[in-house]
Amino acid sequence: MDKKTVYLGLGTNTGNKQENMRRAIENLSLALGSPIACSTFMESEPWGFESDNTFLNCVIAFSTSMPPLALLDTTEQIERSMGRTSKSLNGQYSDRIIDIDILFYGDEIIDCERLTVPHPLLHKRSFVLAPMCQIASHHIHPLLGLTMEQLLAAQEN
Ligand code: AMP
Repeated sequence: MDKKTVYLGLGTNTGNKQENMRRAIENLSLALGSPIACSTFMESEPWGFESDNTFLNCVIAFSTSMPPLALLDTTEQIERSMGRTSKSLNGQYSDRIIDIDILFYGDEIIDCERLTVPHPLLHKRSFVLAPMCQIASHHIHPLLGLTMEQLLAAQEN
């Protein structure tokens, strides 16, 4: 089966955030192989909810033949194994030890009950676009037809 480049967005805002990131990357690498690129860890303010705990975010890329829903099973299993208990419900967000979003799965457009790819909010979030620009600034959003660089510039206006 051919391999796709997948971009995952990681976020954490509780406990030892550097350590949470390191563990999530280690667990993802065990499941998917060595990453092909990883951004730096960037600090950001909570998005969509109020909290005193700032986030650490990064974007990491893998080349994988794992199908999309199996990839979601894998990321959710890693979230659970790291102690994540609650999912965001009806757009209500809360503090979390680790959040793993599937941002892009190659150029595929997926819209099913469990999975929407490209991630529907990524183009509105600087904490995704800035690390994406570090590792794949010319990557084109398959629905919007704009590069990560262009989407980030639109955010900053
Ligand atoms: P979370 O933001 O981790 O609380 O995820 C909430 C729900 O979003 C999960 O149950 C997933 O099934 C769903 N979901 C839909 N699209 C995606 C995506 N691209 N990446 C991760 N989760 C997704």
